[in-house]
Amino acid sequence: MGQPPEGKNGTKRDTIIASVTHPAPVLFPMPDTPLSLLNRVFGYPAFRGEQAAIVDTVAAGGDALVLMPTGGGKSLCYQIPALLREGCAVVVSPLIALMQDQVAALKELGIAAEFLNSSLDGATAAQVEREFVSGQLKLLYVAPERLLTPRFQSQLEQARVSLFAIDEAHCVSQWGHDFRPEYLGLSALHERFPDVPRIALTATADAATRAEILQRLDLGAARVFVASFDRPNIRYRIAEKSEPRRQLLDFLGEHRGEAGIVYCSTRKKVEETADALKRAGLTALAYHGGMDNDTRRRHQEKFLREDGVIMVATLAFGMGIDKPDVRFVAHLDLPRSVEGYYQETGRAGRDGEPAEAWMAWGLQDVVTQRRFIDEGDAEDAHKRIGHAKLDALVGLAEAASCRRVALLAYFGEASQACGNCDVCLNPPTLWDGTEAAQKLLSAVYRTGQRFGAGHVIDVLLGKTTEKIDRFGHSGLSVFGIGASQSDKVWRAVLRQLVVRGLLEVDHSAWGALKLTQAARPVLKGEETVMLRAIEVRPARKKSRLAPSSGAGVHDDEDPLFLSLRAWRRETANEKGVPAYVILHDATLREIAARRPATLAELGEISGLGTKKLEAYGEDVLGVVAEG
Ligand code: ADP
Ligand code: ZN
Repeated sequence: MGQPPEGKNGTKRDTIIASVTHPAPVLFPMPDTPLSLLNRVFGYPAFRGEQAAIVDTVAAGGDALVLMPTGGGKSLCYQIPALLREGCAVVVSPLIALMQDQVAALKELGIAAEFLNSSLDGATAAQVEREFVSGQLKLLYVAPERLLTPRFQSQLEQARVSLFAIDEAHCVSQWGHDFRPEYLGLSALHERFPDVPRIALTATADAATRAEILQRLDLGAARVFVASFDRPNIRYRIAEKSEPRRQLLDFLGEHRGEAGIVYCSTRKKVEETADALKRAGLTALAYHGGMDNDTRRRHQEKFLREDGVIMVATLAFGMGIDKPDVRFVAHLDLPRSVEGYYQETGRAGRDGEPAEAWMAWGLQDVVTQRRFIDEGDAEDAHKRIGHAKLDALVGLAEAASCRRVALLAYFGEASQACGNCDVCLNPPTLWDGTEAAQKLLSAVYRTGQRFGAGHVIDVLLGKTTEKIDRFGHSGLSVFGIGASQSDKVWRAVLRQLVVRGLLEVDHSAWGALKLTQAARPVLKGEETVMLRAIEVRPARKKSRLAPSSGAGVHDDEDPLFLSLRAWRRETANEKGVPAYVILHDATLREIAARRPATLAELGEISGLGTKKLEAYGEDVLGVVAEG
C-alpha cells in the first residue's frame, strides 16, 4: 500500500502548469516557488497572514490544521502546495455547489482540476476517474461519501496523491452543528496513506471543536495555524427595530446594485419581505426550505451568477456559498447565538472589499426566542446553554462600546476599538435612566405583575383605556407618572430592563412582566441604571463622513467600472460560469481606477495572472479605451 514510487506514471506533473503558464520558452527554467505561483498563476502580489507558512508546511510534506475566518484565503493554502508537489491533490468537500465553482475558477487559471460528485453522469465521472488515475490532474474535488467507496479507494491506490485537503473540517465534530457522519471515515486516509500530507481547514473557532478535529482526523502531529477572526472590511451595524421594513429599505438604499443576503427567521417572512423588496423595484429572490427544489436551485444560481441580486432567505441558505462579492448581510431577526451571527455575517465581503453586516432587533425577538428555548424538549442543561448563548448575542446588540471588540472577545481574541462599527462611528448617548427604571418597575409591581408591556406603558402614560377602567388602574399612584416621556422612550427603557434581566417576560401568563431579584437594588435606589438613548437618526450620514481603516462606501457610479461589469457579465454568460470566476470586483475596480493602456500595465493589477491576461487582456483594454 502507500504511495507508488517516484515517477510511476512516467510524466512530471509540474509540466501541466508550466506549459500553460510560462509565456515563452525559457532556456533555464526557474523552479516554481510558492510566491512565483501566487504571482504568475493567481495574479496576487503577496501572501496574506499565515498563508505562506501554511503553504511551506504542506508543500514540504507536513500536516496542518488551519483555522481561518471565511474569506481569509483558505483555498490557496492547499491549491499552491498542490501545484508544487508531484501528483494530484484530493480535496474533500461536502458542498457540491462550492466544488463546481472552485473547479471552474481553477480551470480559468489554466489548472487541471475536476470534481467527482453525484451531479455528474456516469460517463463524465468515468472520464474524470481515468484522468485522475493516469495522472492528468493537479486537483480533484470529491464528496466524502464517494471518497470512502471501495471503488474510489482503489483508484487512490493507483493514482499518485500529492496531498489530502479536508475542507469544512468541523463537520467531523459531533458537537458542532454541521456534523457529517462520513467525515468520521476520513481518519482511514491516514492509515492507508501515511506518507501523504493532510491539511484540514475550517472557519469554526472554539477550542473544543478544534481538539475534536485533531483527535478524530488523527492529526496529532499537525501544525495548527490559527488566524485572527477579525474581518476588518466588514462594518457591523446593529439597530433597534422601529419600522423594520422601512429601516431595511433605507439600508438597501445604501447598497444599490450590490449583491447581498437578507436573513429572516420564518418562511412566511421571507416571502413577504422578498415581495416588498420587489415592489420597491429591487432585484430580490426568496429562498427557504419550503420551496420546491427546482425554484430553490434556480434562485441560488441567479444569485451566484448575476450581479446585484438580493437573496431574502432563512438560515437554510448560505452554507457553502462561496460568492466573494456579497456586499452586505442583513438580519431582520436576531440569530440564535454569536456564533450564528458571526458565521452568517461572515458571508459578506469575502473578497476583502468593504462590506456591511446590518441587523435590526427588538424585544420581541428576545421574547420569542426565549419561549422557543423554554418550550423545546431539550434537557435543562441544553436550555441553559441556549439562554446563555442568546444572552451573549443580546449583550453584543446592546453594547455601548465597540462591536468588534465584543465579537472578538467572544472568540477569545483581544482587540482595540475598531473605528469601523456603528458604535465607534457614532457612539450612543447614555443617560441616567435610574428614575425611569424605578417608575417602570413600580408600575409593573403596582399592577400586580400580571400585565404585558402595552398595558404597563399605558398606565405610565396615564391613558384612559377600557382595560385601565376595568381594572381601576387610574387610581394607582403610578398612573400617569411617566407622561413626560413618549411611548417610544418607554419601550426602549422596557427592552433594556428585560435584556438586563431586571424584568422577565412570563410566557405561561401571556407575556406578563415580572420583577426579578436584580430589580430590588434599583428600586431601593442602591444601583444606578445607565441606558442607551434611542437613536434619533440613522447612523448612516455620520458613518459616511468617517470611513476608516480603508473601508468606505464605493463609488459604484464610475461608468468605466459599470462597463467592465457589463463586459464581465456577457463573458460569464457565454462561458456559463459565475461572474466572479472571470474577474473579481476588486480587480475591475482597480482597472477602472488605473485605466491601464497596455498589457504590461494591466498585468500589474492584482487578480490577473498570466492565463487571465492572455484570455481577457485585449478585451479589457478595449473596454478601457472606449470608456
Ligand atoms: P475562504 O475559503 O477562507 O473563505 P477563499 O479561499 O475563498 O477564502 O479566499 C477568499 C478570497 O480572497 C478569494 O477571492 C481569494 O481569491 C482571495 N485571496 C486569497 N488569498 C489572497 C491573497 N494572498 N491575495 C489576494 N487575494 C487573496
Ligand atoms: Zn468598533
